[in-house]
Amino acid sequence: MVLSTIHTNDAPSAVTRMVELGLEPFLVSSTIIGIMAQRLVRRICPYCSDDYVMTEKMALDLGFITQGDLNLKYGRGCEECRNTGYLGRLATVEVLAISPTMKTLILEGNQNAIDLKNLARAEGMTTLRENALDLMLAGKTTIEEVLRVTGAD
Ligand SMILES: [Zn+2]
Repeated sequence: MVLSTIHTNDAPSAVTRMVELGLEPFLVSSTIIGIMAQRLVRRICPYCSDDYVMTEKMALDLGFITQGDLNLKYGRGCEECRNTGYLGRLATVEVLAISPTMKTLILEGNQNAIDLKNLARAEGMTTLRENALDLMLAGKTTIEEVLRVTGAD
C-alpha cells in the first residue's frame, strides 16, 4: 500500500488534481481505494471550558440549520492555556471511498469535483465542515474554529 499527500481543498478535488497532473483516469480509478482530507481545529482548553448557549437565531444567521438553541462550549482562558481558551488541536476529516460507482464516474472521464462530491455525499461521505460541526456540538472546539478552517466550504 502506498500513502501519499496532495494539497487540495477537499477529498473529491484530489481526483481532479491527479487527472490534471496527467494521470490516466483508468489508473486513478483502479489504484486508489480512498482519499482523506484533513484540517486541524484548535481544541477547547479542558481546564477552563465553560458552557454557553447559541440561540437558534444566531445559528441561523451564521447559516446553520438547527432547531432550537445550541448548548456549546468555549474556553474562558486560564494559566494552562495562556489565556487563549485553547489547548492542543484536533483533526477534522472527510473520507472519500472510491466505490464501484465512483470508479465508473471517473472512468467515464468525469473528474468534475462537484459531481464527485455529490456522488460521495449520496454514498454517505460527511464533509470537513460537518465533521468540524460535530466536534463543536461535542464541546471540543468552537464555532470560530469551524468557520476559520471550513469557512470557504
Ligand atoms: Zn484554559
